Amino acid sequence: MTDEEKLEALYGYSELLDEAKAVVSGQPYVHTPVEFSLKPAEVPVEETDEEDLKALVEGCRRCSLCESRTHAVYGMGSEHPLVMVVGEGPGYNEDMQGLPFVGRSGQFLDQWLSPIGLSRKTNVYIANIVKCRPPENRTPAQDEVAACLPYLKRQIKLRQPKLLLLCGSTAAHALLGRMEGVGRLRGQVFSFDGIPAIVTYHPAAVLRNMDLKKDVWHDVKLVASRLGLKILRGK
Ligand code: URA
Repeated sequence: MTDEEKLEALYGYSELLDEAKAVVSGQPYVHTPVEFSLKPAEVPVEETDEEDLKALVEGCRRCSLCESRTHAVYGMGSEHPLVMVVGEGPGYNEDMQGLPFVGRSGQFLDQWLSPIGLSRKTNVYIANIVKCRPPENRTPAQDEVAACLPYLKRQIKLRQPKLLLLCGSTAAHALLGRMEGVGRLRGQVFSFDGIPAIVTYHPAAVLRNMDLKKDVWHDVKLVASRLGLKILRGK
């Protein structure tokens, strides 16, 4: 049945209802015009392509974070990435621009990646666990993570990165189901859906404590060795 046929049937049915009302009540037939419209069915997240998925994220109202957002932040970078970097959620700058890791943390992250030839311009994709900024940049709540996670899982499936770099405990907990701190999880190679996954500190945490930088450099070198990348510059 086409959409036009469905609408025609609905209008016919509304006239029939008015006729039935007239018969039952013994009152003269009066037709009350009704407006119908057919909303396109929402594609299930698991069946989306990139375009559908982005549209779902941008219109998402699955949790209360949508109420305070300026933009939902879908993701950015390479279509077929070597590495997908996963952060926690947008901050102020990301919310304003609708792009991930564009503030200070993002510039710092870019500096981690460039010595091994990785860049969001060529071979990296960047996304977050939650797509809308939590108020005051608080850690996203469990229900917010649960509501948003299917979007990231679909992004991973569609982009098929060769490796996941999980920045911070929110990303590690959500994707690996591991509740240990980053200090315990880093230095190993996990697997998410068959994709190697390496945990490191969140850039914001390193900006607060520069002593962590040397650990991050070890993690970046682990990424390079896992992918067979040359280290172009030492840190
Ligand atoms: N912190 C994140 O986790 N993600 C961003 O996009 C920006 C800051």
